[in-house]
Amino acid sequence: MKSYIVGNWKLNFTVGEASIYLHKLQKNLPNYRDIEVIIAPSTIALQPLSLQIDRHKMKLGAQNAFYRDYGAFTGETAFSQLRGIVDYCIVGHSERRYIFREDDKMVAKKVAAAVRNKITPILCIGETESERAFGETADVIRDQLIGGLSEVADDDLEKVIIAYEPIWAISSTKSAKLASPDEIAEVVSLIRKILGDTYGKKLAEEVPILFGGSVNSSNAGAYLTVPGVNGLLVGGASLILSEFTDIIEVAKRVKS
Ligand code: PEP
Repeated sequence: MKSYIVGNWKLNFTVGEASIYLHKLQKNLPNYRDIEVIIAPSTIALQPLSLQIDRHKMKLGAQNAFYRDYGAFTGETAFSQLRGIVDYCIVGHSERRYIFREDDKMVAKKVAAAVRNKITPILCIGETESERAFGETADVIRDQLIGGLSEVADDDLEKVIIAYEPIWAISSTKSAKLASPDEIAEVVSLIRKILGDTYGKKLAEEVPILFGGSVNSSNAGAYLTVPGVNGLLVGGASLILSEFTDIIEVAKRVKS
């Protein structure tokens, strides 16, 4: 299976800055067949960057989109409008869930809309620090996973990527902590078990699962070798070109 290295730029970079970053990144990036490098800039940068990106080397992802294709939804951008512009879209990121109040129903509609528009959704799931402390991690993971996939037809489930992002490990969370490889392995194996019990063994084995939470070039190797982890979703460190490039290098080394 491929490894995925995804840079979630969140609300950072002007279109010009994004373009310069992309130019520098892809100039020195070899065409790695077994590593899918994805950057997810702000929506406004997607169309111009789609004309600049070398799709043999890397891919473009959105950070969010709306599930309806058109209509009276002021301020929204539809998956249907991003069709052909991006190959991936992050869906259900914890910042969308907690700041913008997206619940599992909304997330499910977005996952389905992405698939419908030939965009691979990267469905983010993860527990808060207090949910973990109260022993609720397994329930939260199950609810977000089954809830998020609930509107996708069985035949399309293989088009989804899951990202496990414990919220307590995300660098912008107050007093964020690093997740240990054992903690990640336990939840990743739970995710595969839930997928297996619900949708069958094949899907459970084949769905790519990424880890995200304060990943940088120093810990990327340890996280990429956690059993069942197929890649990384990188926030803060992806804003620094040298860090992101080093993480891709680490992924290449782990792969070979
Ligand atoms: C994220 O928010 O998706 C993320 C993984 O952020 P960071 O790498 O900064 O913890």
